[in-house]
Amino acid sequence: MNLEKFNDILKNEPSYRLKQIKHSLFVDLINDWQEATTLSKELREKLSKNLPISIEEESLVSDDQKTIKTLLTLEDGQKIEAVLMRHTGNRNTVCLSSQVGCPLACEFCATGKLGFTRNLSSFEMVAQLLFFSRLLKKEEQRVTNVVFMGMGEPFLNYDNVLEAVRILNDKDGLNIGARKISISTAGIVEGIERLTKEKLQINLAISLHSAKDELRSELMPVNSKYSLQKVVGVVKDYVNKTKRRVMFEYVMIDGINDRQSDANALAKIMKDEFYFVNLISYNPTGIFKPSSGAKIKRFKELLTAQGVEVTQRYRFGDNIKAACGQLAGKSIST
Ligand code: SAH
Repeated sequence: MNLEKFNDILKNEPSYRLKQIKHSLFVDLINDWQEATTLSKELREKLSKNLPISIEEESLVSDDQKTIKTLLTLEDGQKIEAVLMRHTGNRNTVCLSSQVGCPLACEFCATGKLGFTRNLSSFEMVAQLLFFSRLLKKEEQRVTNVVFMGMGEPFLNYDNVLEAVRILNDKDGLNIGARKISISTAGIVEGIERLTKEKLQINLAISLHSAKDELRSELMPVNSKYSLQKVVGVVKDYVNKTKRRVMFEYVMIDGINDRQSDANALAKIMKDEFYFVNLISYNPTGIFKPSSGAKIKRFKELLTAQGVEVTQRYRFGDNIKAACGQLAGKSIST
């Protein structure tokens, strides 16, 4: 699929035609332009030739059928991963990648070990979602939630990510509510500042993982540039201006960031009614060990006792390496 030339190719078409085309692609969820019967044969041919919409992919389904991990091959042969998580009650969340690889090199993250190749275009992000939308349509279901928590750092590809958000959010298209879209960042200050100024109701999540600068810098080298103080400072401003809640993600790593002193340091930072902590089990990537259930419970109790709101992330897809931090864009069959 390559929709890069979308606007170029269609710039001379009347606006009602553009509407029909978008409707075919994003509402009817066609797999092939030939299915777009509202368009003339000529236009269908032109679109088939210039805007291919078939998606090259390999997918894996988890044992419990709740998770599908898809490896998509892009026009230039690069590979990225996206994940569908099926909750009860027809809630379907898609986790999107924003870059091929990632430059941030977080110690605990498989994508971080790959290094950075390139940014994704907005349409490459939309294509990941379209793949799952087409799949769910067969069961008369739809994608209801989107999280930018796949490969890459969304705020190092700010413009394209925001353009993708606008395409996803379009009422006449995929129509995914802004409140159902979340962007997770390792704490790129400029990105948070820019998001504060957008008139968008999307959700912001911050990957914190430690409330101590020294440890955070070890786990996340980006902390040397954007210290806790800087990150928390811009998040405060975001909350003051937008009155939106912010989720702080915290991966529980055994003996590293799960001690009582870590919980106390975290509780100090979390003193704001708009903040909440999301505890994530560390998904093994070969370096650390995950905290035990008992340790996570204790950590949670320590936070709760200090007035911090805490949620725990449900573990999706660990048996197919589709869980957070395990996306490495490797071929699935090998
Ligand atoms: N770069 C962005 C988004 C991608 S990572 C960010 O840092 O937020 C999405 C989430 O998965 C982040 O909170 C990240 O820290 C977390 N994560 C990374 N590796 C993980 C692992 N091995 N186990 C659990 N969560 C992990």
